[in-house]
Amino acid sequence: MNVLVINAGSSSLKYQLLNPESGVLLAKGLCERIGIDGKFTYKAAGKAAKDAADVPMPTHAEAIQAVMDALTDSENGVIASMKEIDAVGHRVVHGGEAFNQSVLITDEVLKAIEDCIPLAPLHNPANLTGIRACQKVMPGVPMVAVFDTAFHQTMPPRAYMYALPYEYYEQDKVRRYGFHGTSHKYVAGRAAAMLGKKPEELKIISCHLGNGSSVTAVDGGKSADTSMGFTPLAGVPMGTRSGDLDAGILQYLMNKYGLSIDEMLNILNKKSGVQGVSGVSSDFRDLTSAFEKGNERAGLAVDMFNYGVKKLIGAYAAAMGGVDAVIFTAGVGENSAEQRMAIASGLEFMGVKMDAEANKVRGKEAVISAADSRVKVLLIPTNEELMIAMDTAALVK
Ligand code: AMP
Repeated sequence: MNVLVINAGSSSLKYQLLNPESGVLLAKGLCERIGIDGKFTYKAAGKAAKDAADVPMPTHAEAIQAVMDALTDSENGVIASMKEIDAVGHRVVHGGEAFNQSVLITDEVLKAIEDCIPLAPLHNPANLTGIRACQKVMPGVPMVAVFDTAFHQTMPPRAYMYALPYEYYEQDKVRRYGFHGTSHKYVAGRAAAMLGKKPEELKIISCHLGNGSSVTAVDGGKSADTSMGFTPLAGVPMGTRSGDLDAGILQYLMNKYGLSIDEMLNILNKKSGVQGVSGVSSDFRDLTSAFEKGNERAGLAVDMFNYGVKKLIGAYAAAMGGVDAVIFTAGVGENSAEQRMAIASGLEFMGVKMDAEANKVRGKEAVISAADSRVKVLLIPTNEELMIAMDTAALVK
């Protein structure tokens, strides 16, 4: 079975063609500058990437058509015809409270995704555009929506409610939704497989640490709490996002500097986080090298990030009444042995004991805790596309 996975942005579209049963990736690429001049990249597995080519893409439909042409190309293609694509899985950012799992796309589902636009005004419209473009170019092929928020719909009210007047929840749907759900679900599933246990038997803390970061408590295979909130601005400090902060700061700074709420939010989303604290970069590699050259603020930014993640591990262990495994994933979690060590050290009191040698690994599944560590610490590369393809296959079958 072949599933095409689509992640559509407002002017871009990432795609992968993969086999969800074997996990084999056939081809992937990116359409950029849709509606502008159109840049197209394509890479078939085992072959050299084709340089970005100018392909006219006035809309997402031409972009999807370019993907079809490349996939079925007689020289570099990986399938003979579009008929070899059994289904399409679409990443959709926000499913609100309407979706607690992936779904086959119908007109009602499209309407429900539209209803969630106020909750994700930048992302959901782009995701819808991608779905409609695929429906136009590939009529009759089953399509599935996989939501970033769905995995977290199992959180209990005490975890998802904000202590605001209740009508803001009832009327305005203001609550914690959480994001990166596809990634947390994938790595939690892999962790169970690595440990030879059923997901229901495990209490897991999944740390997705990248440019955007979130930590999730997965109790018995279900999300029990997560650090991102109503929007992806909440939780630990991120590349450029502040993470949690005292809302009183907004009033203080806005009054003092005459900032509008949009300007303030722009600062919190784009100029804060480790970028804001360090004044150097949002990229953790740059921060590490700046710190090594003596930049104290770069060191402080990384330290604040690591401390934020460590605190959440403690909090979620308390929330679940224990923890069997801690997972590190995404750019920082998969690559930075130093940060993994900084986060996990000092947690020996709760049964976490790292193995410094085993931790010297990057980008592949590994147990990085000591043999006698009660809590297993795991490095698991995330694979959201494969999770989307797996969900899609399960629904189409
Ligand atoms: P992601 O958003 O998952 O793509 O992660 C991006 C982040 O991972 C960036 O901040 C990168 O600096 C970080 N990253 C990638 N490789 C490393 C590394 N070797 N050490 C530290 N951070 C890394």
